[in-house]
Amino acid sequence: MEKYKLPELPYGYKDLEPYISEEQLTLHHQKHHLAYVNGANAILEKLEKARQEGGEIDMKATLKELSFNIGGHLLHSLFWENLAPSGKGGGGEPTGNLAEALNEEFGNFARFKKEFTQAGLTVEGSGWVALTYDPMTTRLFIMQIEKHNTNIYPTFPILLVVDVFEHAYYVDYKNNRAQFLENIWHIINWQEVEKRLEKARK
Ligand code: MN
Repeated sequence: MEKYKLPELPYGYKDLEPYISEEQLTLHHQKHHLAYVNGANAILEKLEKARQEGGEIDMKATLKELSFNIGGHLLHSLFWENLAPSGKGGGGEPTGNLAEALNEEFGNFARFKKEFTQAGLTVEGSGWVALTYDPMTTRLFIMQIEKHNTNIYPTFPILLVVDVFEHAYYVDYKNNRAQFLENIWHIINWQEVEKRLEKARK
């Protein structure tokens, strides 16, 4: 049966420097992201085996772990695509329909950045901060995710997501999450965010 796979990065490990170092990005992708891929696959194998053998499963513990690992895999996959080398697709400010949508919801880009950064700084424990789109109201929402799977708005597509687990920045920034969140704007791929908004609106 089909299993999860670690996706390749859309750039080289050195390409996000100086904002994310080669060492930081390599560890993050090859160790941390891979661990969620392997974790999800191991649980799927455990489920398959129990089904074949008619064995018992601790559904609560298993599904909790599966949700955590699949969530980690999905969010990392979105996160890599949200980044691009500075000056080569990364950084600057949103344009076009995305800029318009952000202005409409938040008033201006600076206000969006402020709310997004505050949400990232204040995640309880480990987690993520995301910009999402609600198809029902056609409005943009900031989503603060605890771990990989708590506090989410089910079915809202994620336009932009930033990892604020310590493992995302510790090599480069030690415990200074605020500095990491300030520097991340240099490598955000706004074209990808706009592409996701267009897709979500269809
Ligand atoms: Mn991570």
